[in-house]
Amino acid sequence: MVKDEDIGKVMEILRANVPPHPYKSREPFKVLIATVISQRTKDEVTYTVAEKLFGKYPLPRDLKNAPTDDIAHLIYPAGFYKQKAKKIKEIAKIIDEDYDGKVPDNLEELLKLPGVGRKTANIVLSRCYDKDVIAVDTHVHRISNRLGWVNTKTPEETERELMKVLLKKYWKDINELLVMFGRTICRPVAPKCDVCPIKKYCKYYKENKKG
Ligand code: SF4
Repeated sequence: MVKDEDIGKVMEILRANVPPHPYKSREPFKVLIATVISQRTKDEVTYTVAEKLFGKYPLPRDLKNAPTDDIAHLIYPAGFYKQKAKKIKEIAKIIDEDYDGKVPDNLEELLKLPGVGRKTANIVLSRCYDKDVIAVDTHVHRISNRLGWVNTKTPEETERELMKVLLKKYWKDINELLVMFGRTICRPVAPKCDVCPIKKYCKYYKENKKG
């Protein structure tokens, strides 16, 4: 069992060392749509095209009425841009018509939106509504396992296990911290363990690199 004290230390070190997340917006609709765009897409592309899209269509009502082709054109070269354009338009329509233009602030309603899974919903809830939830994407899943905080096969399982292991005060921050840490140091392939500031707390390091 990982000690709370060690997790606290890791969080402190990460907060001091990890670069800030590049997408600054805390507006629920923007964060929601940007997260949909981000699936299988590089960050540089995601945030550039998201801003281009919101520059032309800032509100759910604007996007609902936008031609799908134009949305696709604006978010290109995001992966699966044509499918995402359709989803974005559908989401905008539902938010505008069923929720009076306001993104819901609970998991159940968010999960009803097309193309929105637990990760996306939890990103919106933690980042925009300050809710104590854990958004688990591939970075959070991979790094939590490498650190030895969990021993899991899927992001869903990781979310459940992290809720047992992590004190609640860390839940909403863990995604942004581990995402940025995963992009810079604890990369999917060839993690930079030699320069990692938390290696002394890492199970993977102890088992594979040390000595
Ligand atoms: S020591 Fe290596 S595997 Fe462990 S957290 Fe650091 S970069 Fe990741």
